[in-house]
Amino acid sequence: MSTMPPCGVLTPKDFKSELRPIWCPGCGDFSVLQAVYRALAAVNRPPHEIAFVSGIGCSSRIPGYTTAYGFNSVHGRALPIAQGIKIARPELLVLAAGGDGDGFSIGGGHVAHAIRRNVDIAYIVMDNQIYGLTKGQLSPTSPRGAKTCTSRLGSLEDPVNPLLYVLGYGCHFVAQGTPADMAGLTAMIEEAIRFPGFALVNIQSPCVTYGEEEQQIKAHRAKMTTLESLGHDSADRIRAMDLAQHYGTELYTGIFYRNPDPPPSYDSLVLARQEEMMAKAAPRERILEVFLQK
Ligand code: SF4
Repeated sequence: MSTMPPCGVLTPKDFKSELRPIWCPGCGDFSVLQAVYRALAAVNRPPHEIAFVSGIGCSSRIPGYTTAYGFNSVHGRALPIAQGIKIARPELLVLAAGGDGDGFSIGGGHVAHAIRRNVDIAYIVMDNQIYGLTKGQLSPTSPRGAKTCTSRLGSLEDPVNPLLYVLGYGCHFVAQGTPADMAGLTAMIEEAIRFPGFALVNIQSPCVTYGEEEQQIKAHRAKMTTLESLGHDSADRIRAMDLAQHYGTELYTGIFYRNPDPPPSYDSLVLARQEEMMAKAAPRERILEVFLQK
């Protein structure tokens, strides 16, 4: 962890680590990083109360650029590690981050279980529809027809729909953002952090080196439609699923679904059970007494 910021009200700068990002100039992940700094400052939790876990990929460098406890872990395994941290240390604010490959291919199986357990983690996916770190292979969210170094003539596969996927598993908070709308992106990350349960923010974060033209910020600006402008009610899960079906054709941004009455998170249930068991346990003096009598 880097140097501690002063006490009191935190600013985005307090979350900027001493490491200089080595992403390609113009990469969308720079904007995501700025939005994370701003959201963390708004939440005003000091860095020593935050754990930030990632998998492997360009975007998974993000904990290193953030002043907090960081863990750049194993490909696809950010969520099991983040869940373990949250259950062992429920008082920490836990963030997990990664790319679309990390979240929906290599680590795809973990997403469903993190959702059904509902561990209080904000999961930020930088979805650029390509494997950038390994130089531009087809990823699980690459669109059909995408020409990459592993699909020279165009992909023959349909992409995973990350929004529908997590809504289908019952995720209680689902949002999608783009660096083309920094205010909106920051607000949804902040809301995801504040949400008392597993929350997913899927960010269309352009890969300027290997991504296609229609996946760049300029195209996002022209294409994006806020869910607010459609009058979408974020408490309406069925409508959210309906809108999520347009992933890949439309660029809807905002909060698709936020359970207005979220159930208790898994970590809070574990904590309550531990307290219950402790209360039922015989006092230490009595145990010692019985032991000494024998
Ligand atoms: Fe960003 Fe793509 Fe460069 Fe990776 S390869 S740092 S995703 S622009």
